[in-house]
Amino acid sequence: MSLVSTEKADTANPAGPQHGTGLANYAGWSTQDVLRDLLCRVFPRRIALVSSFGTESAVLLHLVSEIDRAAPVIFLDTGKLFAETLRYRDALVGRLGLQDVRSVRPNERALALADPAGTLWESDPDVCCWQRKVEPLDEALAGFPAWITGRKRFQGGLRAVLPLIEREGDRVKVNALAPWSAEQLRRYIDEHDLPRHPLEAQGYRSIGCAPCTRPTAPGQDPRDGRWAGRNKTECGIHTAQPSSAPPSVAALIQTRNFA
Ligand code: SF4
Repeated sequence: MSLVSTEKADTANPAGPQHGTGLANYAGWSTQDVLRDLLCRVFPRRIALVSSFGTESAVLLHLVSEIDRAAPVIFLDTGKLFAETLRYRDALVGRLGLQDVRSVRPNERALALADPAGTLWESDPDVCCWQRKVEPLDEALAGFPAWITGRKRFQGGLRAVLPLIEREGDRVKVNALAPWSAEQLRRYIDEHDLPRHPLEAQGYRSIGCAPCTRPTAPGQDPRDGRWAGRNKTECGIHTAQPSSAPPSVAALIQTRNFA
């Protein structure tokens, strides 16, 4: 199939050669060519793909595996995931031959302090996400000058204006699938006969942690099933920095440091 190309809007590349990163101007490049350049030339084995192994994750994992099966892949195992997601991760890793998948768990000691009953997702989901996702990812990305996300513009909200490449502190963040549509993703999965997340057939079309994910009706925004009924649309790994931890998290970190 013809792979989705970056478009003119992506020429506003904030992390371009002028910043000394070695990045090209990727306007008009196919997604596969962008990934090949990043994985092989700019950041060989120094760029990590962060994957949730959710409903559309197979596309990016497949694209990366076709270029370098030993590319580092980070998976946040929050301790609250569906068992189906863990099985799907294992099945996809085997099918694609991925050689460096790092399943990252939250800090056990911090979790024991912050969420001894395992119900923090209900009382304070922002702190729960911080503890189980933001902080573990921050630690897992240490030493990587760049990472790849699977976010798409069609997902709307804060994602509607995603650039292909952005800068996050000292790190480069690549939203490799930003210009892809839901239909293009579906077609790619079909054409490459990639396995689907087992919960997709039950109406789960955007899948995160089990307590915070609901199925959605056909035609409904898939992300409506995430933190349904709450004023929360992102877990924080794309919107928060450790230095800007919510006050409750900052207090928690202090408690941990001095415990
Ligand atoms: S998605 Fe829910 S369970 Fe998972 S880390 Fe966030 S609040 Fe906790």
